[in-house]
Amino acid sequence: MNIILFGPPGVGKGTQADNMVKNFNLYKISTGDLLRNEIKKNTNLSRKIKSKINQGLLVSDKIISDLIVKILSKKKYFNRLIFDGYPRNLNQAKSLDLLVKKYNQKISCVLNLNIDKESIIKRILGRLVCAKCGLTFNKYFNPPQKKKYVCNLKYLKTRLDDNKITIKNRLGVYTKKTLPILDYYADQGILYKIDGRRKINQVCREICDIIGSLGTWLCKL
Ligand code: AMP
Repeated sequence: MNIILFGPPGVGKGTQADNMVKNFNLYKISTGDLLRNEIKKNTNLSRKIKSKINQGLLVSDKIISDLIVKILSKKKYFNRLIFDGYPRNLNQAKSLDLLVKKYNQKISCVLNLNIDKESIIKRILGRLVCAKCGLTFNKYFNPPQKKKYVCNLKYLKTRLDDNKITIKNRLGVYTKKTLPILDYYADQGILYKIDGRRKINQVCREICDIIGSLGTWLCKL
């Protein structure tokens, strides 16, 4: 089964996706991470991507679709993907449906994580990402602990787009372009609503229950 983790920036999609990978035989695909990797290549394309991300705007659907095709077409990931931060508009949602059909796969559920605006801002401004291993922590809600984090603290960085001005744009884009997709998935009967304001392990437990009910064969434990 492929799963979409849906929700506003800062709700904890990345953290929950990491937890899901620990518990299930699934792979996390974050379009944000894929784009940040592209940026490191320092090409014309990467400069375009960087400019959009730094403004808090969406990168073009064509760029995203090319990245997704590379992943969906790989045997290793067949029906085992967690999409984090994708799709982000209706066009991407429809394109994903066509692509999963083309590669004989399926979207089994869309997990919609909800949270209020004030908490989003606090979570985004507290976010720390390890430049070495990619793990995400939060200064206020999920500080790095020795048992969970093995890299040196110096690798923990704040993302360039995690600032007050860009957050405003990202939230505007989310409300205008991303939220409307929910009706599309509700109509397909695969939408699950999850209260993302709770503690990380509480949200994780609910997600595990949902996935477990859809396919126990995916459990690692
Ligand atoms: P994220 O890491 O999911 O918070 O994404 C960071 C930024 O990458 C977003 O603000 C967008 O500029 C860009 N981005 C990530 N995923 C997508 C997507 N599916 N479509 C368009 N832009 C994206």
